[in-house]
Amino acid sequence: MTSRVVVLGAGHAGVEAAASLRKAGFDGAVTLVGEEDALPYQRPPLSKDYLAGTQDSPLPLRGEGFYAGQDVELRTGERVTAIDRTARRLILRDGPPIGYDHLILALGARPRPCRSSTQASTGCATCGPYTTATNYAAGWLPAPRWS
Ligand SMILES: Cc1cc2nc3c(=O)[nH]c(=O)nc-3n(C[C@H](O)[C@H](O)[C@H](O)COP(=O)(O)OP(=O)(O)OC[C@H]3O[C@@H](n4cnc5c(N)ncnc54)[C@H](O)[C@@H]3O)c2cc1C
Repeated sequence: MTSRVVVLGAGHAGVEAAASLRKAGFDGAVTLVGEEDALPYQRPPLSKDYLAGTQDSPLPLRGEGFYAGQDVELRTGERVTAIDRTARRLILRDGPPIGYDHLILALGARPRPCRSSTQASTGCATCGPYTTATNYAAGWLPAPRWS
């Protein structure tokens, strides 16, 4: 019986985990689940060219054809709210649960806001997903102060 691996988190680590499974010869089902709506993308340019406005869309980690070509089911825009380890399934904010035989957690990290002062009063802000960088680039949020 073939097994199903679910990779939770469609950032760099998650995409590479899915790719590595195929490269190593795993022939079961591979599902990559991420909450962001975009094709998994590179984060480093967000604080460089994208923020400066010289790049107008996030750079994908892998082309769209990679996922179909490697038989990796890519499920973007899916927020996981809980892991039911007994039943081996992910509980989604919207939609039916996703079952797994093996689960890889590739959830990354989020910036912690500064507690001693509000972001607005200091001009400091965090830079995380591309949607945040888009807001900076559009001037909707105060520009981050890097030094
Ligand atoms: C703006 C910026 C600039 C950077 N520049 C550099 C650089 O110049 N050089 C360098 O070496 N590194 C840089 N980094 C760091 C590097 O990009 C990270 O180390 C890398 O992105 C980590 O990858 P990851 O897959 O572990 O985590 P992440 O990229 O954080 O991916 C985790 C994914 O999991 C998803 N997720 C989390 N929880 C859930 C959930 N409950 N349900 C569904 N999905 C979920 C998140 O939405 C996210 O897409 C930068 C990071 C940022 C944010």
